[in-house]
Amino acid sequence: MSIGRCRVCDLSPYAPDGLEVPYKMRITTPCPNVQSYIKNPKNFLPIKPVCPNNSSHRPHWNANWDRELCLDHVNATRITIFNAYCEQCHETISYWPEFVLPYQREPLETHEQVVIEHLQGISLRESAAKIGYDPRTLSRWLKLILTQALALINEVVARILSIMNQEILPLTAAVAREATMLILAWLRNYAGWISFPRPNRLMGLCNLLGRGDWDLWGALLGNAKSRAKKEYSPG
Ligand SMILES: [Zn+2]
Repeated sequence: MSIGRCRVCDLSPYAPDGLEVPYKMRITTPCPNVQSYIKNPKNFLPIKPVCPNNSSHRPHWNANWDRELCLDHVNATRITIFNAYCEQCHETISYWPEFVLPYQREPLETHEQVVIEHLQGISLRESAAKIGYDPRTLSRWLKLILTQALALINEVVARILSIMNQEILPLTAAVAREATMLILAWLRNYAGWISFPRPNRLMGLCNLLGRGDWDLWGALLGNAKSRAKKEYSPG
């Protein structure tokens, strides 16, 4: 894939080009600054990898791989994603800095900006023009985000409430748009509570909160679900 061909996203989904494997376990790591990650990504990894299935497992660091991210909407920058492997689970655990979403070449902030503008009533065409994309691409991002919000909202809000030590409130998010507004409102509330310094990375905060328990927001649903452990049959 040539550098600077972000618009390829308009023509084909990123996943099937062979660069990314649907990893079974993904964990988001806090990372305030993309440039510092590029400079020294290992600074943002835990000293020892942890297995989300069982904390007594002892996964070890494994191969890393590069992927592309379009920081200026045009030119691709390579960033490294690190993997660990859990012998007991026979599974790969990948560590994602909070500004990246699986299968997406745009940083998380771009996706978040698009969904927030959409909720504010700004047209897709207008949002697309600002970042030089085809509105159809933005509509795909939106569909994914709205679907994810609806799927994740109960788990995410329950986690926020438990961390904030508040009672669980009944939730009635009937539609994806409403769920998206609610989930972002809860994340904003929680970001304020913990003084999370990156208000334009609420989806990243959501993934950090997940600690690997839910698929990274923005990914295709179901690709990384492996928490209900299946029997592994050695090949
Ligand atoms: Zn394990």
